[in-house]
Amino acid sequence: MIIYDVVVIGAGLAGLEIAQSLATLGQRVLLVDAKTSLIERVHTTGIFVRRTLEDFQFPQNCLGPVVRDVSLYAPNGRRLDLQSEHDEFRVGKMGELYTSWLNKCRSLGVDIQLDTRLHSVQFRSSVSQIRLHSKGCFSDVQARFVIGADGAQSRVARELKLSENRRWIVGLERVYEKQNQQGDAPRFHCLIDPVLAPGYIAWVVDDGEEVHVGVGGHPDLFEPHAALQCFENWATKNTDFIPGIQIEQRGGRIPVGGLLSKIVNQHGLLIGDAAGAVSPLTAGGLDPCLRLSRAAASIVNEFLETGRLDALKQYNGNRLRRRFWKRLLLRQCLDCCRSRTLINVAWSGLDSPIGRTFARKIMFGKGSFPDVLPSSSRNHVNLVNP
Ligand SMILES: Cc1cc2nc3c(=O)[nH]c(=O)nc-3n(C[C@H](O)[C@H](O)[C@H](O)COP(=O)(O)OP(=O)(O)OC[C@H]3O[C@@H](n4cnc5c(N)ncnc54)[C@H](O)[C@@H]3O)c2cc1C
Repeated sequence: MIIYDVVVIGAGLAGLEIAQSLATLGQRVLLVDAKTSLIERVHTTGIFVRRTLEDFQFPQNCLGPVVRDVSLYAPNGRRLDLQSEHDEFRVGKMGELYTSWLNKCRSLGVDIQLDTRLHSVQFRSSVSQIRLHSKGCFSDVQARFVIGADGAQSRVARELKLSENRRWIVGLERVYEKQNQQGDAPRFHCLIDPVLAPGYIAWVVDDGEEVHVGVGGHPDLFEPHAALQCFENWATKNTDFIPGIQIEQRGGRIPVGGLLSKIVNQHGLLIGDAAGAVSPLTAGGLDPCLRLSRAAASIVNEFLETGRLDALKQYNGNRLRRRFWKRLLLRQCLDCCRSRTLINVAWSGLDSPIGRTFARKIMFGKGSFPDVLPSSSRNHVNLVNP
């Protein structure tokens, strides 16, 4: 039986990123995903923010046009327009991106098993026995280290007895072909409405090629399908959205409890949604999952090369979690805000010079996931995915 250096469970963005990085560093990697094809059941809108676009490279055909304009709406329809002087957002063509990165993994020598689920992990002294399940059959592989990139409800976390996500919002969206080609410039519309989207926002992202219309909120406070229908009606009246041909429906859980505290042990570690690496405020998880994966690749490589457990101590969920306190506090405020009237009243404050600065900071700020590694080690990691 082959003994892999690393088995990565989950080929979302986090798993694909770390598999490429570890293979580039010379590790023997197996990448496993439950999906038969990575273009099926995409669950994310795929909005990449400026800092990610600057720090990571994506094939150009995998990104939509630049979005610089944002409109925020109060429940009573009052609107606040913001424009960035930078190329602020681009919506990823996620199916193409996953496929392109999967092909890159293959070309780097990563072994890939799709249509395969993690069943269980048994620990031995230096290798773990990983039981996989595919098409009704079980098979075993061995690995020196296991990486959980298997999303918000991580089986790896359970098997490795690491922390698990407990707080969620859920998101649901429809993706439409763009209808009015001569319409406005690409724009991101966000409605802040505690009834249609309790604890989060409802959005229309129109990048000129596709239109994503979605709602997010606490699962026990709204019914996403009904809310999305209401929001689409609202959007046809208040934005230039015209429902055209629906291409996809996407949705899923988004962990918003902040980075988990115990995300590593001597047998493996967690990255991406499995580690709770999502901004508790904006619910953006693409930047955090890429940054955490990049740092984790360097740490795992060091551990496998030296055998020193100390290397893994850098991957400290508790230390990183402390950096999220402001965003966790703002999340509590969002959670408590259940009244449309309150938001309508507070809107006057937002539509002031100080309010606009605050709104610009949230929408266009460059604050992203904290750096996991000291700067000396970061230079090394950047070589992996320059
Ligand atoms: C509706 C919605 C919209 C969103 N929009 C944005 C956005 O615009 N911008 C942004 O920054 N963030 C957004 N997010 C959050 C972002 O999508 C996630 O944080 C990010 O995709 C997490 O990537 P990941 O690789 O960690 O996990 P995932 O993308 O969930 O990948 C996990 C993979 O693991 C596989 N898997 C799971 N269990 C097993 C198993 N037992 N065995 C084998 N394989 C398994 C799954 O098939 C999947 O492919 C959104 C989330 C949702 C739900």
